[in-house]
Amino acid sequence: MTATSAAHDAATATAAEGVAYDLVLRGARVLVDGTVAPRQVGVNDGRIAAVVPYEETLEGERVVELGEHQVLLPGLVDTHVHVNEPGRTEWEGFDSATRAAAAGGVTTLIDMPLNSIPPTIDVAALETKQAVAAAKAHIDVGFWGGAVPGNEADLRPLHEAGAFGFKCFLLHSGVDEFAPLTPEAMEDDMAILAEFDSLMIVHAEDAGTIDAAPEPSGTGYAGFLASRPRSAEDTAIQAVIEAARRTGARAHILHLSSSDALDAIRAAKADGVRITVETCPHYLTLEAEAIPDGATAYKCCPPIRERANRDLLWEALADGTIDCIVSDHSPSTVELKLAGGGDFGQAWGGVSSLQLGLSLIWDEAKRRGIALERVVDWMATNTSRLVGLENKGRIGVGADADFAVFEPETALRVDAAQLHHRNPVTPYDGRELTGVVASAWVRGEQVDFETPRGKLIRRGEA
Ligand SMILES: [Zn+2]
Repeated sequence: MTATSAAHDAATATAAEGVAYDLVLRGARVLVDGTVAPRQVGVNDGRIAAVVPYEETLEGERVVELGEHQVLLPGLVDTHVHVNEPGRTEWEGFDSATRAAAAGGVTTLIDMPLNSIPPTIDVAALETKQAVAAAKAHIDVGFWGGAVPGNEADLRPLHEAGAFGFKCFLLHSGVDEFAPLTPEAMEDDMAILAEFDSLMIVHAEDAGTIDAAPEPSGTGYAGFLASRPRSAEDTAIQAVIEAARRTGARAHILHLSSSDALDAIRAAKADGVRITVETCPHYLTLEAEAIPDGATAYKCCPPIRERANRDLLWEALADGTIDCIVSDHSPSTVELKLAGGGDFGQAWGGVSSLQLGLSLIWDEAKRRGIALERVVDWMATNTSRLVGLENKGRIGVGADADFAVFEPETALRVDAAQLHHRNPVTPYDGRELTGVVASAWVRGEQVDFETPRGKLIRRGEA
């Protein structure tokens, strides 16, 4: 119990006999354990203390009655966000990123270790980032560490300081201060991580395959796509699978794009290799065939591929081969994103979508006949499981009172300039979607976009 809530309990105990909960949310559509039903949720001290059928009456100091058109979901957990602060705060920052996240129904994010300066490759850097985030976070924020050449001795201390796992690249990361590992060095680091059962998360594109592919240049998307072939992902993913198999470490494939890698992943999972996989809204809702010339807002690595590839990724979500959907929100300044006047070789690679993920995925899932419950599995349940946050990503007694109030039938027209993202460049600008986030709640408090009430979270603290 916090000092504030203790004081407030003392004040209300005499004022209102019989008030059982700080907050009660009531609605016809509340998602619990994979089913939507009329329910009431009672919250005390930021945690869910009761979940009962709608007919029972929970008394609360504050009672929020949801509309018929609203669904109470667990707050989403986005485990792949590049916040970029400190060092590149002009690209994004904890204030803008966490407001955007909340507006999109995300109540927990895990920040990637690169694009900030310093990158999160030792405990001092982690503490620097935590200090910056603590004062600005509107939602809960945790951190990945980085595995780079020469920081083997920093892995365990970072783990003990609360890092949720370690990211590595197998090719140039896009920024010089975060160097890639060779597949051999990745495996050596995974052997270290296996000692304390941490997780290696991998940007899986093979450097040699990319080097041998044509250079990206010009305004045509086909040229860019040819520069990042599926085989680069397939080769790197095979290396991750084999390293995980040999070391026994847990490994996670970041932002899967190539559907050609799915069979190898299926086979590895069937063999008991400890591997999980994520993909992103841009691979699931966009298609190479429709990307206009010069539209570098769509540039990301690995690239958005063809329509048929996208359909196979959806199949892999449905059968559990892909576990999670995360944003990989990776913005830059407008100048860098549009550098070269539409030349795909020069623009920054990264898609901005933190605020839009749920609307994008729900809009596409609905079109494909997929239920909202499954979307929440991929964006909240499985992502929180990935990072061991047992008290996030679900509505149930004992869990943090993190919610997204979602209107799945309400129309949304994306206006990049209206998003909380710091830089108004996104390939989704102008897109018509169905599904709007009405509010986000973090540990029983509605995010108000003014007072940052988010907390820092650390591995193992749950
Ligand atoms: Zn990323």
